[in-house]
Amino acid sequence: MSTSLPASMPAICKLNDAPGLNFCQDVPVPEPGPRDVLVAVTHAGICGTDRHIYEWDAWSRNRVKLGITTGHEFVGRVVAVGEATQRIEVGQRVSAEGHIGCGFCEACRTGNGHICETVDILGIDCNGCFAPFISVPETNIWPVHPEIPNKVAAVFDPLGNAVHTVMAAGVSGKTVLITGVGIIGLMAVTVAKAAGATRIFVTDVDPRRLELAMKLGAEQSFDARQPWVDKLRQTCRGGPQVLLEMSGHATAIRHGLEALHNGGRAALLGIPADEVKLDLSELIIFRGATVLGINGRKMFETWYQMENLILSEQLELDSIITHQIDMKDFETGFAMMQSGEAIKVVMKIPQSEGEACQTVNSTSEQLS
Ligand SMILES: [Zn+2]
Ligand SMILES: [Zn+2]
Repeated sequence: MSTSLPASMPAICKLNDAPGLNFCQDVPVPEPGPRDVLVAVTHAGICGTDRHIYEWDAWSRNRVKLGITTGHEFVGRVVAVGEATQRIEVGQRVSAEGHIGCGFCEACRTGNGHICETVDILGIDCNGCFAPFISVPETNIWPVHPEIPNKVAAVFDPLGNAVHTVMAAGVSGKTVLITGVGIIGLMAVTVAKAAGATRIFVTDVDPRRLELAMKLGAEQSFDARQPWVDKLRQTCRGGPQVLLEMSGHATAIRHGLEALHNGGRAALLGIPADEVKLDLSELIIFRGATVLGINGRKMFETWYQMENLILSEQLELDSIITHQIDMKDFETGFAMMQSGEAIKVVMKIPQSEGEACQTVNSTSEQLS
């Protein structure tokens, strides 16, 4: 490893079995293993998942390993590579797939690493990117196209969720309903439009988000707290042909399936906090509906689709990435997400002292 790297760094960690995150000062800089790459992180996105960990909900309590550095959405520059790495070089600007598949199970070996049975996730099962340095297996690294700005490269993870959902559902030439227009739902509006959806309808409880969804290309928005299913079914002749469920709320899932056209396809990405009771015979069986569960991003099919969608300049992401803050102000970032003031928050990660890191910093600033 390069000698100009510091031994320790600040990091946003999950130390205690209680709500909140800790800003730690002296976390060891990770040592990349032989097949790993060490990245100096310049920008990191705060994800809905990070908010779950911050709020320490039931899912986080059962899943997250205490003591880890959090965060999994990032862009940065490679500062060191393990001796057995093959392709990635020091100096490259990179992001990474945050799901680390085992590489050996049936899912991994059939191109389905996103549903690996023993997947490790950055910032959840192992140390993440809310720190100046992260170590990632070389096979998870995604070199970033020079024309893609840092703030967009920092949110490949949720954008990839949106792309995966839209592509799995197949929206070209179809009428599309998106239930829940949070970060990924809003991204799904712009992705679905680029992917050829004819008419896009959205529901949510936040009028600001509905308004933004309209700006991004939705034709009509519905307040999810008012009756809307019949209106929508009339508007598009027996209901939308595709449902993209992005809220994880039981009522939204039920209403979304109720609205769906007979023979329609539903792609479910939103994660319900509890079990959801559904009338399967009415909502799915008699309607001949196809229901897809969506997890993560296809490695790396989704990544190629996403890069080309961005480069085609058909995606409108600037109005979704509402705030860029310094890493030390992460509490403000979470508060703005909780209040609904912010949609997507990207943190700028300051580099520690040291020659290599300063070079990294000045180069990345030019590209941001
Ligand atoms: Zn994420
Ligand atoms: Zn696997």
